[in-house]
Amino acid sequence: MGRRARPRRARRPRANAPRSWSRPLKRPRLLILGGTSEASALARRLADEAGVAPILSLAGATANPAPAPIQQRIGGFGGAEGLASYLEAERIDALIDATHPFAARMSMNALAAAGATQTPLVVFSRPPWAPQEGDRWIEVATMDEAAEALGSERKTVFLTQGRMQLAAFAKAPQHRYVARAIDPPAGIDTLPQCKLILARGPFALADELKLMRDERVETLVTKNSGGSATYAKIEAARTLGVGVVMVRRPKPPEAETLHDLDDVMSWIASVL
Ligand code: NAP
Repeated sequence: MGRRARPRRARRPRANAPRSWSRPLKRPRLLILGGTSEASALARRLADEAGVAPILSLAGATANPAPAPIQQRIGGFGGAEGLASYLEAERIDALIDATHPFAARMSMNALAAAGATQTPLVVFSRPPWAPQEGDRWIEVATMDEAAEALGSERKTVFLTQGRMQLAAFAKAPQHRYVARAIDPPAGIDTLPQCKLILARGPFALADELKLMRDERVETLVTKNSGGSATYAKIEAARTLGVGVVMVRRPKPPEAETLHDLDDVMSWIASVL
C-alpha cells in the first residue's frame, strides 16, 4: 500500500474555523463511516456545503437504511487494507469515523487505514451514559456476562442491544424475553420464550413507559450506546424501578474524538 505524496495539513481545529468552503478546482472528498444518527446528522449538514464532496458509507447491516442526502456506498471494504485502498483510489481527503461505539472492528480498521495512507481521521461519537440517582445498573463487559447477570430466577427481560447477539441469552432460557430490533434478528428462534418487536428509534419516554408496563418488564439489557435517541428506555427504567444490565463499551480507538457536530465541522474545515 503506497504512501501519498500529497502534503497534509495540521489536524487540530482552528479556534474560529470557517463553516463553509469556497469552491476549489477539486472539491475535497470526505468519507463518513456511518450507521448512526451522528453520521446522518453530519451528512445532512454537509449536504448544504457546496465546497465539499462527502460520501456516506454503510455496512449494509439494516435492510432498508434511511435515505441519505449525500452520495452513499454500502458494504464492507475488505478490512483495513481494503479501506486503505479505497481511500487512495477515491482520493479521500479526510475520514470521519461516525460508527457506533460498539462497532470496534470498523473503528480499528479506520485507524489503521488512516495511518497507512496519512489520511486525517476524527472519531465522531456520543459520550457514554452515566448512571444517575435512582438508576439500578449492573455493568458488564460482554453479552455473555449480561446473560449471566440475569440470574437463575425467571423474569421478564427487555433486550434492546441492537444487533442482537441473541445466542448469549439462549443459555438463559428460563427468562421471558421481549426483544426489540430494526430487522428480524438472526438467532431469535434460539430463545424459547421471546416476543419480537420491530421498531426503529428514536423512542419517546411515554412509549417506553407504556411498553415496559404492558410487558411487565423486570430487567432491561442494553449496550451503553450513549446519545439521546434511545435514552428514554433508561429514563423509563429509572421511573419504574426496573434494573438495567448495562454492557460497557469496547476500548475506543486511539484517535482524536469529538462529540459535537459543530466541532466536527470545524475539524473538517481545519484539515481541508
Ligand atoms: P463492526 O463489527 O465494527 O464491523 C464489521 C465489519 O462491517 C467491518 O469490518 C466492515 O467490513 C463492515 N463495516 C462496519 N461499518 C461499516 C461502514 N460504516 N461502512 C462500510 N463497512 C462497514 O461493526 P458492527 O458492530 O457489525 O456494526 C455494523 C454497522 O452498524 C456500523 O456501521 C455501525 O455504525 C452500525 N451500528 C452498530 C451498532 C452496534 O451495536 N454494533 C449499533 C448501531 C449501528 P470490512 O472489514 O469488510 O470493511
